[in-house]
Amino acid sequence: MKWLNKAILTMMPLIPKFFVGMVAKKYIAGVTMEEAIVKVKTLNQQGFVFTMDVLGESVTKKEEALEPLRMYMEVLEAIHKEKLDGNISLKLTQFGLNIDPEFCWENLKIILDKAKVYNIFVRIDMEDSSVTDLTLDIYRRAKAYYSNVGTVIQGYLHRSADDVQKLVKDGVNLRICKGIYKESYNIAFQDRNEVRDNTINLIRYMLNHNQYVAIASHDLQIINEMRQYIDNKGFPRDRYEFQSLLGVPIDNTLKDLLANGYKVRYYVPFGTEWYAYSTRRLYENPDLGGYIFKDFFKFWKS
Ligand SMILES: Cc1cc2nc3c(=O)[nH]c(=O)nc-3n(C[C@H](O)[C@H](O)[C@H](O)COP(=O)(O)OP(=O)(O)OC[C@H]3O[C@@H](n4cnc5c(N)ncnc54)[C@H](O)[C@@H]3O)c2cc1C
Repeated sequence: MKWLNKAILTMMPLIPKFFVGMVAKKYIAGVTMEEAIVKVKTLNQQGFVFTMDVLGESVTKKEEALEPLRMYMEVLEAIHKEKLDGNISLKLTQFGLNIDPEFCWENLKIILDKAKVYNIFVRIDMEDSSVTDLTLDIYRRAKAYYSNVGTVIQGYLHRSADDVQKLVKDGVNLRICKGIYKESYNIAFQDRNEVRDNTINLIRYMLNHNQYVAIASHDLQIINEMRQYIDNKGFPRDRYEFQSLLGVPIDNTLKDLLANGYKVRYYVPFGTEWYAYSTRRLYENPDLGGYIFKDFFKFWKS
């Protein structure tokens, strides 16, 4: 299917924004916070929890960080006011990590302070490998002052086992996922089975070291294997959760997890930056083109 993914990438600038929007709609909870709040309320009513993400990343001017900062403050306010069961996820480049890590830290502190008052957890998403060290540095710094913060480790990176081993020494809350960016073979596993095995090993390591782990994958093999592992070993339910991106078609699996007492969290992105987000992800990882093609196909059939 590599040729198909490449073809979709080449065609991307020709695809009208309207069509991209029709597909993206499934993965994004809306443009405004109000739309996203309606979505997360419904998820809560169904028994799911959520993490909200204000779309956007990699600002190039300091003043561009102000808008996402304002939006996240509004989101925290809304979660608190509406008594919703959920938290937030954010990307540090959205707050100026690439411009000035100190400036980024100051912005993150504003969010963490408010989140602490409202007892809301903040997940720092992991971006591409050019910022892995910077992200982990800021995460460590945040953890020294705040207990309501966690980050993400990517199963495809060779370094991740070492990172997790170092991080668990101080107690951590990590989301473990495969990793979405295109990384070179020097630093990342390329083989699907190797990525999956490493991801599973990282999750197991977290569980076996009594650290809170968010199992973020749509790969049914990972979900089923982890479920079996957890059940066999009898890990307490408050030490882990399953996570899925909004719109990925594994609803039945998620409902089944929920019905069997597991905590399941949806990642719910929203905001005006949906088009840039959708196309950037596609350029970073052409494999996503295949998923989108399948969606188009389903859309026209329905
Ligand atoms: C809650 C959550 C948070 C994440 N946070 C980060 C992060 O901070 N940093 C990071 O690098 N990555 C993040 N990711 C992305 C993750 O790293 C993977 O790239 C992505 O989840 C695909 O890997 P997979 O484990 O689902 O397995 P895959 O083998 O890629 O997917 C399994 C199956 O799921 C379906 N599928 C997967 N993704 C999609 C999609 N987007 N649309 C439609 N169908 C799909 C396909 O049918 C596929 O066959 C996150 C993922 C989740 C679920």
